[in-house]
Amino acid sequence: MTNNSLFHHSRLKLALAYAGVMGSTLLLCGYIAHIVMVKAFTRTVDRELQIFGKVFEVKLQQDLKTPGELSINTQKSLPGLCFQKQVCLPIKSESELSDLLTQGYYLRFLKPSGEVIAAIGNNPDEFPSNVYLNHSYDIRNRQGELYHLHLIPIKIKNGQLWGYLEVGRSIQKLNDYMNSLHLLLGLGIPFSMIMIGGTGWWLAGLAMQPIEKSYQQLQQFTADAAHELRTPIASLQTIVETNSIPQATQQSLQRQVTRLVTLIQDLLLLSKLESGTQAAKWQQICLNDLVTDVEEELMPMAMEKAVTLSINVAEENYCYIQGNESQIYRMLLNLVSNAIKYTAAGGQVQINLTTKDKQGIITIKDTGMGIPVADIPHIFERFYRVNADRSRNTGGSGLGLAIALAITQTHKGKLEVQSQIDQGSTFTVTLPLVATLNK
Ligand code: ADP
Repeated sequence: MTNNSLFHHSRLKLALAYAGVMGSTLLLCGYIAHIVMVKAFTRTVDRELQIFGKVFEVKLQQDLKTPGELSINTQKSLPGLCFQKQVCLPIKSESELSDLLTQGYYLRFLKPSGEVIAAIGNNPDEFPSNVYLNHSYDIRNRQGELYHLHLIPIKIKNGQLWGYLEVGRSIQKLNDYMNSLHLLLGLGIPFSMIMIGGTGWWLAGLAMQPIEKSYQQLQQFTADAAHELRTPIASLQTIVETNSIPQATQQSLQRQVTRLVTLIQDLLLLSKLESGTQAAKWQQICLNDLVTDVEEELMPMAMEKAVTLSINVAEENYCYIQGNESQIYRMLLNLVSNAIKYTAAGGQVQINLTTKDKQGIITIKDTGMGIPVADIPHIFERFYRVNADRSRNTGGSGLGLAIALAITQTHKGKLEVQSQIDQGSTFTVTLPLVATLNK
């Protein structure tokens, strides 16, 4: 991943996390406020209806004698009483009751079984009978208006249940108000999320500016230092080659200088790959040819170590990717040479090439020493070695896998590893294919 895309990615992640946390807090607060509001209103309405019903209960208790029956006295004392299947006439008197009924209140009498007997000033069948004896519930009337109904048991003198008084009140206005609130929240929350996301993006940019700057400086330093070291090391190499130094010393010096040269080249390549300034020499590359070339180049190394190096291209096709050929070659060279380096004599290294879902998959499988589980997350870091002594013997600098990973990522691919100690390791490179041709 190049610096730019790395910082862009982190900035986006920060902005999304910020929007996510703020958005969920907002949603949670809104939800709690909504629940509290609805609960408070329902309680107020219930209490109001209970008080309203109690007034009647006291008034009625003296006249009611037989359960489920309204006595003549009661009927006389209640203007506008309307029995089931009877035409209901409006209340003539300008009583408080008629005022309340026109304000959206509802009143009816139910038998102990919950069936309707009569209602006051309204159709008794405005709502279905309450046979389940729901204590407090919301229901729509025949015109579709929403009501909240409350059931009050009425007892007669001997303590026996006479039936129920059901009082109700229209809550249509509250419901409309709640619906508009939901709409407002439905539109407001996405809008706020966009605003929060934008602010998060801006804040993350601000917070990352110094980090980005120091990271760039660090990388610039690595690139500059490597660049500056090239000339003196080249002179050193010439001196070692041309001066009459004892042969053993010369060989040792030569080895060290070669290591230094490789190290500097690797550092330069890494900083170019990560800064994304690498000249785009991209072309179509045939993976089949590339794996064969890598095998040919590393065969002498494998033979010297008595490791069997083989190649298995299962595909009927030639697979092509778009990329920088020398970089992909370098990546494969690093992985296969590692496999040979870390496999003891008599072991095997196999290179496989397959395709799946428009992806070219190259696996490099060895039967070597494997990598401890604790080291696996770190092996792609620069200069990381599983066991410093072990790697020093192999002459590695610890940059090989970091370079391989940077190259794979530059080519929008993936590099994964599976390994078991003393059993071997499998490195899998997945690269997006641009074409396949029949052999
Ligand atoms: P080095 O130059 O030390 O090989 P690399 O970056 O190529 O550096 O690898 C990092 C470390 O990962 C190595 O030191 C080695 O311990 C471990 N490693 C890499 N490839 C293999 C492998 N195929 N089998 C076992 N260990 C491996």
